[in-house]
Amino acid sequence: MPIIERRHDTSRRDFCRALIGTGAWLSTGRALTLGQSSGTGRIDLHHHFYRDTPSARKLIANSPNPQPMIAGSPKQSLDAMDQAGVTTAYLTCPLSPGDNAAARGDMRRAARELNEYGARLVSDHKGRFGLFAVLPLPNVEDSLHEIEYAFDTLKAAGVGMMTSYGDRWPGDPVFEPVLDELNRRRSLVYSHPLVASCCRNLQPDTDPQTVEYNAETSRAIWSLINDGTPAAPFTSRATRYGHVRFVWSHGGGSLPGLVGRFLGRAGVTDLSAAPPDSRLYHLRRFYYDTASATNPIQMTALKSLVGISQIVFGSDYPYVPIQNLVQALATCGLTSDELDKVERRNALALLQAR
Ligand SMILES: [Zn+2]
Repeated sequence: MPIIERRHDTSRRDFCRALIGTGAWLSTGRALTLGQSSGTGRIDLHHHFYRDTPSARKLIANSPNPQPMIAGSPKQSLDAMDQAGVTTAYLTCPLSPGDNAAARGDMRRAARELNEYGARLVSDHKGRFGLFAVLPLPNVEDSLHEIEYAFDTLKAAGVGMMTSYGDRWPGDPVFEPVLDELNRRRSLVYSHPLVASCCRNLQPDTDPQTVEYNAETSRAIWSLINDGTPAAPFTSRATRYGHVRFVWSHGGGSLPGLVGRFLGRAGVTDLSAAPPDSRLYHLRRFYYDTASATNPIQMTALKSLVGISQIVFGSDYPYVPIQNLVQALATCGLTSDELDKVERRNALALLQAR
């Protein structure tokens, strides 16, 4: 998707929020640890970054999802953040070799280069950025090494995972060692969609974001909450990884439209109670960002399903101007208190939870 260069006038309210946010982190002079947020502005949990290195370039050239990776400079990010009243943005890079085992070395190198670059941005612009580290999945061994380095050395705020690798979604047993370790660390896992191997070019005249990204996100969610049938139940992966703080992009994709299928039994969908470790329990402990979900239909459905406390601000910058999200979110029928929760307070609770 091309970058939209259109600029928007900043409203008085947003301008004030931007000033307050920026001033707060400048004037306190507090030494913020990596990934911490200060100020009173918005917190953007879906903010892309990229560094053009030979490994990353090779990965993209051979990618099963040859999406253009758009690199904005740190200054462009900061300008966009200031314009939209965002104090802190969490950096994520949706880079994946899919199921191409031959790309293992490139993925390992690219993840390390991106993570070190991201950590440098965090430390060079204190309070403005946090890092969701890139994992060199689907290789488990490399990912375990990178998890240790990202958290223990780079002090990342979380890790990013793609919704799938080849034909494997996060609930697949092959990823158990990685998610067990993330569970042990009570990590934040930010999930970003791509187009799964099964579903590439099904409709060649349609952008993958239109249908597949949304289906892919809900399929990844299902892979975690699936607990079998009444006749053959089993423990869901979401229960096994009960300490992982999952954050899903794009309002959970097509999740709201699948509630009847995911939660219904014998044609009845009961949303009144969510017993511990039930499918609904997990849906209501996961978090969902606002990117591409800032319309009254999806926001109302999502709020009704998971509650306002689970919705966090995510812009999808630089693919979408942050200010567009701010303006669209304001049209979703949320109260000012609910907006404040979505734009900032829910993210603070999520980031500080352990
Ligand atoms: Zn994105």
